Amino acid sequence: MFRKVLIANRGEIALRVIRACRELRIATVAVFSEADRDSLHVRLADESVCIGPPPPSQSYNYIARLISAAEVTGADAIHPGYGFLSENAHFADVCVSCGFTFIGPTSEMIRRMGDKAVARRTMREAGLPCVPGSEGVLADVDEAQSLAGSIGYPVIIKAAAGGGGRGMRVAWDEKQLRAGFGIAQAEAGAAFSNDAVYLEKYIARPRHIEFQLFGDGQGHLIHLGERECSVQRNHQKLIEESPSPFLSDAQRRSVGAMAVKGAQAIGYLNAGTMEFLFDQDGSFYFMEMNTRIQVEHPVTEEVTGLDLVKEQIRVAAGESLSLTQDQVEWRGHAIECRINAEDYEHGFRPSPGKITYWYKPGGPGIRVDSHVYAGYGVPPYYDSMIGKLIAYGKDRPEALRRMEIALEEIIVEGIKTTVPFHQLAIRDARFQSGDIDTHFVEALLKKEPVAAG
Ligand code: ADP
Repeated sequence: MFRKVLIANRGEIALRVIRACRELRIATVAVFSEADRDSLHVRLADESVCIGPPPPSQSYNYIARLISAAEVTGADAIHPGYGFLSENAHFADVCVSCGFTFIGPTSEMIRRMGDKAVARRTMREAGLPCVPGSEGVLADVDEAQSLAGSIGYPVIIKAAAGGGGRGMRVAWDEKQLRAGFGIAQAEAGAAFSNDAVYLEKYIARPRHIEFQLFGDGQGHLIHLGERECSVQRNHQKLIEESPSPFLSDAQRRSVGAMAVKGAQAIGYLNAGTMEFLFDQDGSFYFMEMNTRIQVEHPVTEEVTGLDLVKEQIRVAAGESLSLTQDQVEWRGHAIECRINAEDYEHGFRPSPGKITYWYKPGGPGIRVDSHVYAGYGVPPYYDSMIGKLIAYGKDRPEALRRMEIALEEIIVEGIKTTVPFHQLAIRDARFQSGDIDTHFVEALLKKEPVAAG
């Protein structure tokens, strides 16, 4: 087992990794930018190293500084968390070549799944259904147009190197496709320094359902069930739950087995997530694979009883998975609301600043994963998420009711948060009945006939 792990991240996930390490009696090293000097991850880690000024390019994404921090502190492994360098194959390579274990899959796996066009081809070859679309990246707008003509509109143009919902454009006809193609390329180039795009059929009212996968170095690969992530705004998730109210046990078993097969095709190692779109008629398509721990991993932890971060560390240290597929049991229902420092009444605009008062809800089945406290200043430089509120219950109604109460209890003063949005969403009749798709938030905010429950 490792002696010391450096966490190449900040915020709640840095805390989450520190807690897992402490349980495993592994020493921790936090890194921080000048804007995060007063962060909890800095206080709770055994050691900490300042790695530069606030902009991520000067700190959390600055590979040489992270490696130097690992070297001077004598760490033997690096956990990348999510975001920042977590899906950067070059970073994984550098870690390994400098003698550190990268807590995640190999750089080769990250590279293959990171190029979404390659990932689609790989999974199609492994027998997974993929959304009809281009074989690889598109050469130009004429190729896009002829392909869109043959698969039929609407289509979605997506960045091959995409992530976080950026670099995507929906086109309902030829005119929109010609206009959107260049915009998608430019957005992709700006966001990912790679302007390659591909095209897919746009599924009108899909559900986003993803499967948690885990592999170890002894060739075991299991799935831990699914998460329903259809509550999204601008393709970014706001609420996640497990199990999905949409899937039957038989579907869970068959899609889960298929996801395992896909991951086996690349000999997948460590935690990964396979994302699918489910059409209203139950047909489903592979969308992409994320080669890291996800923000929404706690809902899977709550229903399976497994600590996914400890499992990541154990597997990276060469141990076997702590359970077999037959031993995975799902119990109860869990739901997560992402609390962001955003003003939802004004288009979810960022609301950084000092938190003057913070009260964290509690009681049976309530978990809060957060790095903030009263007096903490939310810096404007990073992701706006200030915490995750997770409610567990013996069934969905109990989890929902506990979430509703926790959302009434939580107090965050000094900044605006997405708590009022979550209250609206959780009480909504459509949400309560589980009738959700990726357009739910749009409909909710337009106040379509979705009577309060
Ligand atoms: P990212 O990696 O940027 O998060 P994804 O490929 O995971 O991008 O897609 C994010 C979201 O965009 C999905 O959850 C879904 O809501 C929407 N989306 C992506 N592809 C399609 C598609 N072919 N049809 C309809 N919606 C899509």
